[in-house]
Amino acid sequence: MEKMDVVIVGAGLAGLATAYCLADEDLVILVAEKGDFPGSKNVTGGRIYLNPVRDLFPDLWNEAPLERHVVREKLTMMAETSSTTVELRSNRFDQEPYHSYTILRAKFDRWFGDKVAEKGAFVIPKSKVDNLVFQDGRVAGIVADGDEIYADVVVAADGVLSLMAEKAGLRKEQKPKHYAVSAKEVIELPRQTIEDRFNLEGDQGLAQLFFGTLTQGMMGGGFLYTNLESISLGLVVGIEALMEKEPKLEVHQMLEDFKQRPEIRGLIEGGEVAEYSAHVIIEGGIHAMPKLFGDGILVVGDAAGFGLNMLMTVRGMEYALASGAMAAQAIKRARKQNDFSAASLSYYEQLVKDSFIYKELQTFSNVLSFMENPRLFNLYPQVFCGLFEKLMWIDEQPKPKISKTVLQELRGNLLNMGTIRDAFSFLKI
Ligand SMILES: Cc1cc2nc3c(=O)[nH]c(=O)nc-3n(C[C@H](O)[C@H](O)[C@H](O)COP(=O)(O)OP(=O)(O)OC[C@H]3O[C@@H](n4cnc5c(N)ncnc54)[C@H](O)[C@@H]3O)c2cc1C
Repeated sequence: MEKMDVVIVGAGLAGLATAYCLADEDLVILVAEKGDFPGSKNVTGGRIYLNPVRDLFPDLWNEAPLERHVVREKLTMMAETSSTTVELRSNRFDQEPYHSYTILRAKFDRWFGDKVAEKGAFVIPKSKVDNLVFQDGRVAGIVADGDEIYADVVVAADGVLSLMAEKAGLRKEQKPKHYAVSAKEVIELPRQTIEDRFNLEGDQGLAQLFFGTLTQGMMGGGFLYTNLESISLGLVVGIEALMEKEPKLEVHQMLEDFKQRPEIRGLIEGGEVAEYSAHVIIEGGIHAMPKLFGDGILVVGDAAGFGLNMLMTVRGMEYALASGAMAAQAIKRARKQNDFSAASLSYYEQLVKDSFIYKELQTFSNVLSFMENPRLFNLYPQVFCGLFEKLMWIDEQPKPKISKTVLQELRGNLLNMGTIRDAFSFLKI
């Protein structure tokens, strides 16, 4: 009978972080990954914020293959035929240690997988885990390629639709409203073109989020991140909203339409699509969290529901890394006590609850219901872009006072019970 100390299912950020933090101990660790290599199947927007995880992995960041550090932040509200953008360009974001970076997961995870393997863990690609092994009512291992592999503890790091958390009975039914679906392209462009087009110098980068009519009234939005020699461009739409939409829409077609918008067209002109991906993304935050531990099992990263849309920022990668580090801490403690029962492993939940992950999930627990409001994606962008357009437009008639234009627009479009309710729900986020 093959027996490991720890088996980790999934070589994404959460699984690799768990292995990385355990590999210094005298442990036999196996990371089973179904993709051809770590990162081959992993999708993010994406941008990673380092401050929450910098000290957890002090040796990692200096040589990590990250893309550009973000110095320009843009938020664009899109109406049918116009858009309004708010921009932040900050010197603070241009000072080392940099606050956030764009990232390509196929590159980063592969490198991280090599680091974990150098530390002595076995990272096995092309190895799909199909089931868990149970003994005396506790998780005792995994089944991969028909082989049973036993372990003191199994870590479910298998991402957003975690089969492992489900098999272990830790997750209740998944609700479509807690998830969104994304389509993303990585579009290659010469480095200099990116720097000229986006007004960047050296390794500086830009992050831009879009919301409004591009999702046709459905919860979601678009994103654009500049990498060193490519652009990550994508669109996210809530699954429940998509299921209810009539006539039916395809997300990849919505991405094509987004690419044809004049705001985007010029930015990607001449680029070659190097990668296309579709992936599910967590929107449910704390509402989508399963039980985090059981006898012989822990759940980390997206598998544990650790993802959050904070309207202006999207979070998940730091949660994956930090939860992996916490799982490793709980496993080391369980090992000292030679006790891998649920009671012993519950220490992991305690660590999570005391951490920024749980605190942020709690703080932003009302964001989902706020975002379910279609007015956010049609009425408000139309009104604000329309108002801005009116203020900027000069016609044959004498121009009225600014205050008159503003009050007329706002009174005419926004003074009703629905929008007043929205103002109150805004106060809850
Ligand atoms: C479109 C999009 C945009 C996003 N943007 C951002 C962003 O800008 N910033 C941010 O912080 N987060 C973002 N996120 C969220 C972030 O990408 C995730 O939170 C993060 O990838 C979670 O990491 P993970 O390791 O938990 O899961 P994953 O990265 O999904 O890794 C899971 C791994 O498990 C493997 N696996 C699954 N099942 C099995 C099995 N049965 N056997 C073996 N292996 C298996 C998979 O192949 C994969 O390698 C975004 C997500 C999406 C989809």
